[in-house]
Amino acid sequence: MSVTASASAPVIGPRCFLCGGTDVQVKDRLTPRELELIWFHLGVKFSAAATAVFDGISALELQQCRACGFRFFHPSLPGNGAFYADLQRQYREYYPQTCPAFARTLAVARREKIREIMDLGCGAGYFLDAARTEGLTTHGLDLNPDAAADCCARGHAVQCCTAEAYAAGRPGRSFALVTAFEVMEHVPDPKAFFQEAAALVAPGGYLALAVPNDAGVHGWCSLEPHQWPPHHLTRWRAQDLRRLGELHGLETVSVEGDLLRGSALRFYLKLQRELEFVLGRRKSQPGSFGPQVLTFLYRALFLRHWVQKGISLHALYRKPS
Ligand SMILES: [Zn+2]
Repeated sequence: MSVTASASAPVIGPRCFLCGGTDVQVKDRLTPRELELIWFHLGVKFSAAATAVFDGISALELQQCRACGFRFFHPSLPGNGAFYADLQRQYREYYPQTCPAFARTLAVARREKIREIMDLGCGAGYFLDAARTEGLTTHGLDLNPDAAADCCARGHAVQCCTAEAYAAGRPGRSFALVTAFEVMEHVPDPKAFFQEAAALVAPGGYLALAVPNDAGVHGWCSLEPHQWPPHHLTRWRAQDLRRLGELHGLETVSVEGDLLRGSALRFYLKLQRELEFVLGRRKSQPGSFGPQVLTFLYRALFLRHWVQKGISLHALYRKPS
């Protein structure tokens, strides 16, 4: 009787991306078919080429590390080119033209008299455009060749490669400000990504990150499919971002959340209930009364002016001189 190499290979269980712990618990689980159903509820239908990443996968599990509380997916399946092409085609505003992280980061650049920036995962280049209007020299990296070419055509110095490849081709090149907005949650190894980003920061310089806030609306609407593989592979809270800085010897200057708008609160509370119904986790079609009442109270108490539970978390790190 012969035994194939794959049959005898050890089974590798989930391991926390942040602390490396293997004591994890499953918090939720979706089959690829269930994911398709909830995407379809949002009006998105993927091609066979996009869903090929799920071949041979029976379920995706949202895991939580018992040691540090970090949440991540197993298996960690990044999206392929067809997936992102389908999503951009069906979501016109896939790359947001502005977000609070842009203004916060440009305020740091002004304060520190920074002259040039490197934006990792620059996408359509909206942050690069905003930075140039502030007089900054703009550099960027993006793995989407169309997006990179588009940025270059608008005069930004954008390469289509990883931070690691960029650094390998330019030993010693560094920047006073490196940014990565809504990128780290997409990568299969966030610690390696953070390390590569930090390596591009000059001594005394800054690294600015933005990720979806899992301690805010995204945590309350856990079934929202953008927050699942192959789109997002990890989920982040403020303490996880601080931990990441500690692990790489960077000082965490600040971690702040977007303010939670009443419209976002109502939208995500309602969507979670709808998706529970789509998956058969809720027996009857949900009404909108509950989310409306909660949103009314939230607005009436003026909580929207100080509750930092909105879409994104922003972390600013400083590299020692
Ligand atoms: Zn952990």
